[in-house]
Formats: sequence, C-alpha cells, structure tokens
Amino acid sequence: MTETIIDKSPRRQAKSNLTDYHECYTSFCSEPPSAVSDISHRERINIAYEAVDRHLNTEIEKKLALRWLSKQGETMDFSYRDLAEQTSCFASVLHRLGFERGDRVFSLAGRLPLLYISALGTLKSGCVFTPLFSAFGPEPIRSRMEIGEANVLITTMSLYRKKVASWWHELPYLKAILLIDGSGELDEGCYALPELMSQGDPHYPCANTQKDEMALLHFTSGTTGKPKGVIHVHQAVEEHKLSAYYALDLHPSDIYWCTADPGWVTGTSYGIVAPLCMGATMIVDEAEFEVERWYRILQEQHITVWYTAPTAIRMLMRAGSEVRQGYDLSALRFIASVGEPLNPEAVIWGEKTLGLPFHDNWWQTETGAIMIANYASQAIKPGSMGQPLPGITAGIVKRNEQGDVEEVHKPMETGELALKQGWPSMFRGYLHQSERYERCFNHGWYLSGDLAMRDEQGYYWFVGRVDDLIKSSGHLIGPFEVESALMEHESVAEAGVIGIPDELTGEMVKAYVALKPNVEQTEQTLEALQKELKGFARKRLGAAVAPKEIVFRQNLPKTRSGKIMRRLLKARELGLPEGDISTLESDEQ
Ligand code: ATP
Ligand code: MG
Repeated sequence: MTETIIDKSPRRQAKSNLTDYHECYTSFCSEPPSAVSDISHRERINIAYEAVDRHLNTEIEKKLALRWLSKQGETMDFSYRDLAEQTSCFASVLHRLGFERGDRVFSLAGRLPLLYISALGTLKSGCVFTPLFSAFGPEPIRSRMEIGEANVLITTMSLYRKKVASWWHELPYLKAILLIDGSGELDEGCYALPELMSQGDPHYPCANTQKDEMALLHFTSGTTGKPKGVIHVHQAVEEHKLSAYYALDLHPSDIYWCTADPGWVTGTSYGIVAPLCMGATMIVDEAEFEVERWYRILQEQHITVWYTAPTAIRMLMRAGSEVRQGYDLSALRFIASVGEPLNPEAVIWGEKTLGLPFHDNWWQTETGAIMIANYASQAIKPGSMGQPLPGITAGIVKRNEQGDVEEVHKPMETGELALKQGWPSMFRGYLHQSERYERCFNHGWYLSGDLAMRDEQGYYWFVGRVDDLIKSSGHLIGPFEVESALMEHESVAEAGVIGIPDELTGEMVKAYVALKPNVEQTEQTLEALQKELKGFARKRLGAAVAPKEIVFRQNLPKTRSGKIMRRLLKARELGLPEGDISTLESDEQ
C-alpha cells in the first residue's frame, strides 16, 4: 500500500455528477438524484425501456447511441431511434417464433451489432438474456446452456458449425438457433436472423415486466472455481443508472468506451445498459486488444470516458510509454478500471502517461453494478478501490465464535468485505444452488468472499480473495500487496503470488513474474534479477511478507475476463487437479 494521494482539486470538473461525496452519501436516502429516482418507486421496470425506448421523442432520440468499429476498419452507426426500432424487431422475432416472457435467450458471438441489438431486444421481449463468451470451446458452451435451460441461441454460422451443430439437438429446451450471418439453406431449427429482422415489427412494444422479474443470467468468471449462474432482475437497471451517474460520471454528451466483452457482466451492465440509460454515445470495437489500435480508437473517436481493466492497463504499460506519444488523447476526461486489483503503479502510470489517473472501482457479478468507487471529484489513494456508492452500505466483517457476522470498526483491520443487502441490482439467486445463495447472507449482510480493509477516511483497500489468503509464520498475507510491490520494479510486467505448504512457516510466499519485453533474458541475467527482485520486495514488504521464491513465466494463467488464476498456479505447483478451467485463457506455463 502506498501513502500517495492524488489530489485532483485543482482540475476538479465543475460539472461532475458528484461534487461532494460526503454530503451526497449522507443525504442520498432522502434525496436520490432525479436522473435515476423516477423509477425507484415503480413496480414495473424494463431494462431495455430504460436504455432505449425512454429516449424516444426526447432530444436524445436522434443522437448517436452506438458506433460499431469492425475489425477491418468499417464503422456502422445507430441512433437511439435506430436502436429502438431494431430491438423491437428482434423482440417481435422472438414472439413470432413462439417464445414467451421468461424464456432463456443465450448469445455466443463476437462484438457484432446484432449481439447488442439482440441483447436489448431479448430484454424488451421479457425473455432472459445470457451472454456467453465467443472464445469458449464446445464443452463450456454446452454445460452453461444445459444448466441455464437455454431456449434460443444467437450465434454466427462459423461458431455454430465449429462449436454447436453436433450436439444442440440433445438439449431438451433448445428450440431455435438464430444465425446473425445466416442465409441460404440452413439446418432444421436454424434461422437466418437478417431475414427474420427484415420482417420484424419496428414498433413492437416493450414488455411491461415486474421489477423483480428475471432479466439476466450471468455466469461468473470462474477465477476461484466452477462458474456460477447469477440471477438478476429488471430492477437492477436502477443501480446501473446510479453507478453510471456517480461512479463513471457519465453525461449525455460523453463518448464512452467500455472495453469489456458482453460475455462478462461488465460488458453487459456497462458495455450495453448503463451508457444507453445515460443517453451517451458508446463505442464498440469488434477487434481484440492491440496497443496501437486502442490508442488510435481513443484518439479518433474522441473518447471522453473510458472503462477498462487492469490486465489491459498492464499490457499498455508493458508496451512502454513512448507508444502513447504519437496520439492526441486530449478528449479523455475520466478513466476507470475494474475486475482485478489495480496496482498503485498502474494508477500513477495513468497520471504520468495519459494525464489522468485510473479510477479503480469494485464490484462482482453478484452485485450487478459498481458498489465501491473512486469518484471524478474526489482525491485518489492509489491502490484503494475507493468509497461505497451513495445508497450502498459497505462494511468489513468477521465471524464470531457462533458463526455470526459482526462488523469490524477499527481502521485498517482485515476482514471480509460485506454489503447491507437489498440494493436494486443485488443478485436474486445462484441458478439451481439456493443453499449456496443463502450462505452468502448473514445478519442482513451479503458476504462478498473478498477480504479488504477500510481506512480512517472510509476508503476501502483490497487484500485478496478469502480463498487466496496466505498464512505464513502467523501473518496473514494478501497476494495483492506482494504483487503490487513487485510491479514497482522496472522489469516486472505482471506478478501472481500464492502460498505453498511449508513445514516451518505453514505457507511460503511464492511469486510468478512476467517480465517486460525489453528485459534481457539469459540464464545469468535472470538469476541476477531473481536475487534483485527478492531484495527489492524485502525492502518494501519486510522479510516475513516478501516472496521466498520467485520464478519467471512468459505469461500468467488468466481467465478470459483477464483475471490472474492463482488457484491454477497453486494446483500446478502442487500437482493437484486443475479443476474447472473452462474460462482459462492464456495457458502458457
Ligand atoms: P468466480 O466467482 O467464478 O470465482 P470471479 O469472482 O472472478 O469468478 P467476477 O464476478 O467476474 O467473477 O469477479 C468479481 C471479483 O473480481 C471480485 O469478487 C474481486 O475478487 C475481483 N475484483 C473486481 N474488481 C476489483 C477491484 N477493483 N479490486 C480488486 N478486486 C476486484
Ligand atoms: Mg466471484
């Protein structure tokens, strides 16, 4: 942890949605902002209505809602009116095929316009939307569709042929495959979506869904084990709006880019729903991460608000600050990160290289929306996740001997990060795992499974996941602290830290380090670097916490949503079964 504070008061934006955090937090319950409060009392809410249809016949209607950038460099623009009509067409297509409210619609596609249209169209129809990541293999696709009792799949011809065609008839509930690029003669049960859309009804009405009706089923990232199916309801949109307003400081005038894929909750909550609710323009890039391409998009699209993830930031850092020099990023005014702990080094790099610090925020698939954040108008303490959103009560809790949860009030004491239950986007179940769901709650608190500390000013500091905590010689060590210290070394691009059993100390801290590309990697230089890094970490962390062993890897195993899979580093280290690796991305050992 660092003592640095980035005080932004000299350049504080007069127009930021949240100017006085404490005032806003304390007065929130009596006076929620008008930008969102108009739906909080309603019994009937529909996410797609809030995102799209409510802008019809307002000054937003003709605005650019979505600009799609293809891999090949084409662009396609959709106004809010276009989106309203196309999502209605999609909803009418589902209706014509005989699907009803509550039916499950899965998607398996790259970031194509019809993915976005069908996500919103599904919600409009009252069906439940579940996005799958397009790079999944056939097995993770099948198992999620089986568990989720999928009725419809939206995909492309090539993904269908490669990953779905051979088994889909075996799934009892699955009745239709809608092919985004389908044409000509198709297998039975498969439909060409463009053709169906051309016959769709652009004025098909939005379903008048109950606020607690299921809207989204999201699978978690699988960082700690088998992914869970998380249930969200239409009321979640209240928190999508609130958090976009407060935590991302979104204004209708913003050009916003969320780099997450809709296969993960961030890519849906903040890559589809929230920016549209705020009437902003959102940019969608079909291509995968590429350093120069990303800088070019930031420049050419005049992105003002950018929401990305630590892995991507670390990759930009790895490429070096010089690359950034050729680009004009003067439109950028707010940048944020989520998904993994954001090392202080990365926040400071943003400030130095992009002229803005990254604003870290924290949430989970289960919370449905951002819960803790660094705000545009508030000072940043690099390494801290920030403070709870207005309307959210967070706490650090521990279990007493009876197993009951009690709040810890002492500053900087580690405990489990918990939230007072009942916020609008709180998940309403783990699909088919009701006991597991019940176990997440105790005395009115939702227990997140993450460990954190709160300082005197009420800022939260991530320590690690409950499962990743290392117990060494009586110390409890969070891997994040060790990883961040290693990241401060100029040669280190990324680090993953685990505890391995040790007779003497209980567990020994071991670090896996990926080096920056410019670091010379001969046997001799690596040996010297290993020693240097151990000393470097000891100086910062002390001998009890610093890693005893450091090994180098080209890449660290990560989930497809970009999180370091420490459980896999550990399983491999100990020769244990690897468990569910359906979300594993880079597998280089
Ligand atoms: P699974 O639950 O299947 O193991 P997962 O927890 O990685 O997967 P997500 O819901 O996508 O699935 O991720 C939420 C988790 O990501 C949080 O519980 C936390 O551990 C981590 N996380 C998210 N944002 C931050 C952040 N700003 N700082 C630290 N950790 C974060
Ligand atoms: Mg989780």
